[in-house]
Amino acid sequence: MPGAPLHFEPHAFSRPRPNGRKRAPSGQRFHLWVSGCQMNESDADYLAQGMTAAGFTQVPDLDGADLAILVTCSVRQNAEQKAYGRFRELRGWKRERPGRAIAITGCMANKEKDRLYERLPDLDYRFDMREYEAFIRDLAGEYETDPAQTGGAVLLHGLTAYIPVIFGCNEVCSFCIVPFVRGTERSRPMEDVLEDVRRFSAQGVREVTLLGQTVNSYRDPSNGARLSALLAGVERVPGIWRVRFLTSHPRHVHDDLLTAIRDLPRVCEHLHLPFQSADDLILKQMRRRYTRDEYRGIIQHARDVIPDLSVSTDVIVGYPGETEDQFQLTLALLEEIQFDVVHIQGFSPRPRTTAARQPDDVSSPEKKRRINILLGAQRRIAEEANRRWLSRTVEVLVERVDGTQLSGRTRQNKVVHGEAPLGAEVGTVRAVRVESASAWQLRGSVLS
Ligand code: SF4
Repeated sequence: MPGAPLHFEPHAFSRPRPNGRKRAPSGQRFHLWVSGCQMNESDADYLAQGMTAAGFTQVPDLDGADLAILVTCSVRQNAEQKAYGRFRELRGWKRERPGRAIAITGCMANKEKDRLYERLPDLDYRFDMREYEAFIRDLAGEYETDPAQTGGAVLLHGLTAYIPVIFGCNEVCSFCIVPFVRGTERSRPMEDVLEDVRRFSAQGVREVTLLGQTVNSYRDPSNGARLSALLAGVERVPGIWRVRFLTSHPRHVHDDLLTAIRDLPRVCEHLHLPFQSADDLILKQMRRRYTRDEYRGIIQHARDVIPDLSVSTDVIVGYPGETEDQFQLTLALLEEIQFDVVHIQGFSPRPRTTAARQPDDVSSPEKKRRINILLGAQRRIAEEANRRWLSRTVEVLVERVDGTQLSGRTRQNKVVHGEAPLGAEVGTVRAVRVESASAWQLRGSVLS
């Protein structure tokens, strides 16, 4: 299988219905529905590539599909509800034509395990993405396919590709379900990652994002090489112009990583570093294992080392017991650090986590109020951060050309729009002089 991201146990297996009667689809066209984070997007890419290499055909419309595969998320309750809602819609689709089948994978499938078959009688397959090759083998065994005759890998993201480099998480934050559904950390061998990057580059990819829940804990299993060494290896792959990585944990930001971002010309000056709360007691309860001052120090040091660093973060409001004063500390840290982008969530108890055993005592309207306050502040802060780019020239990787307009992103991941010069092409890098800025985007003239 091309691009296999995992090393499987010899007896890895997918989980068709436990009564042993697989209800295989009557044809080989599959449709993918993906919800959740970039890891899921990346998993869906690998699944699509593996299925295609095994002789299946991905179709954009459900109507033309024999098999619908849902790549689900369970990080929040409403993500699960969304997946169940999608499944309910699929029941009608399945009943319209005999021979249609439904498969579920992703975090929700791992969390619910075979209970899903009881809850969803129309479900045909549940499988763990860590065993997706076994699922494909199982499915392919129902048909006489010849992988050598197929069109090989497909790429869903065109210019940019997400590549998982480390799976699972060892941190066990009190609110997070990830360690329960994705297991402990397992890094991929660096050579496997580089092989993926070379293959993507040959297919026209120009920007890669290396993924992990705690990507900066990456260690090559054979020699312990860290993320900084992996970044150096990836940027040497011909055809790759930009390298990004997500998500970093504050406890593992070391100088070798910061100097790699500063010194490697293709590694973009962007750090996604969740802080979650600015109150030390809440941070302790969350088991984040840093204090507000330590987090501040990390950001200050990173900005000292890397000129023009953009920083994004994640925040949770309404954690059990969070008082108004504790919330105000989070708002103050937002104002002080001036993040480029902030993802804000209201606390949502997830099963099996420590935080779910505490009373969820901040009401929904109060969580919404706190979210809105942070959103309002961040809108102003982001606009101010973007205005600092006025009259400067930025490097833009062109992602779309639409008539006379082009758009793309800067190294700091800011969206830029401009008038397209003659011959502007997707996948090229252009210099753009910034003339106006809003909270969400920059606009400027494309220099010849
Ligand atoms: S570091 Fe991130 S993925 Fe890991 S437990 Fe904490 S919140 Fe979850």
